[in-house]
Amino acid sequence: MKTALTTGATSGIGRAIAVGLAEDGYRVIATGRRVDALASVVSEIREKGGSADFVAADLSDRASADALATKVAELAPTLNALVLNAGIGGPTPRRDPFDVAFDRMFETNLVAPMRLTRALLSRLARDGSGRVFMISSILARIGVPEYGAYCASKAGLVGFARALARDVAREKITVHAILPGWTRTAMAEASFERLGRAVGGDARAGEAAAMRDVPIGRPAEPEEIAAMVRALAGPVGAATTGQTFVVDGGAVS
Ligand code: NAD
Repeated sequence: MKTALTTGATSGIGRAIAVGLAEDGYRVIATGRRVDALASVVSEIREKGGSADFVAADLSDRASADALATKVAELAPTLNALVLNAGIGGPTPRRDPFDVAFDRMFETNLVAPMRLTRALLSRLARDGSGRVFMISSILARIGVPEYGAYCASKAGLVGFARALARDVAREKITVHAILPGWTRTAMAEASFERLGRAVGGDARAGEAAAMRDVPIGRPAEPEEIAAMVRALAGPVGAATTGQTFVVDGGAVS
């Protein structure tokens, strides 16, 4: 049975990826910070007849991230899919102290995925089924006012994916950066609320404002981002590597 590790599997896009890969027959190792939410995703997968375990870890804490890598290595001698999805969003305005604002964002969104990849790379299957997925963002491509730390962390992830793809290509491991646009999750809802306040309204007003830049006129559902990961986990992901796959309803078209 193939095995997939998904970070940030407790909610939103990560949860949809974990559930989707389990539906595709992967044994899933779900990781995140909240034990109750991890237990819930594992139950959902098992109730549907799938196989799943969880390991709790806070990826902004290096010791916790290192302990996660050790535990995963014990649970699964071989990994077929490594999905680096956990991330935090939000603005880092100039009035915030640089270290506080940038350190947490960089540690969670960029350094932790790189460290975890390094720690687990030797576990990835070399039979052509090994895949690494970096869940970046279209903000790797476009700048948003006051989102300097987020944009830089997500662009950094794309740079890492491109270089890693070349490092491991001859080992039959492929690396894919997924760039979601607006996706209906807790993270997007917080942004809709912020945008709504800026236009003197609520989250729905913020969403309507945001959707003016999205040709399909709606956020993606988490399952639609998961669908891209699930497709690339299959044969279609074997002869493409180091590329970015945008799922954004046409926003950066
Ligand atoms: P979300 O807030 O629902 O999920 C984020 C996940 O990351 C949660 O499971 C959370 O617990 C986990 N996480 C955050 N900090 C962590 C830490 N220190 N240790 C362990 N886990 C941690 O948001 P989402 O929208 O599902 O985000 C998933 C990914 O997609 C993120 O990397 C985000 O940047 C990216 N993304 C989201 C959108 C969007 O519109 N929702 C757009 C582009 C990119």
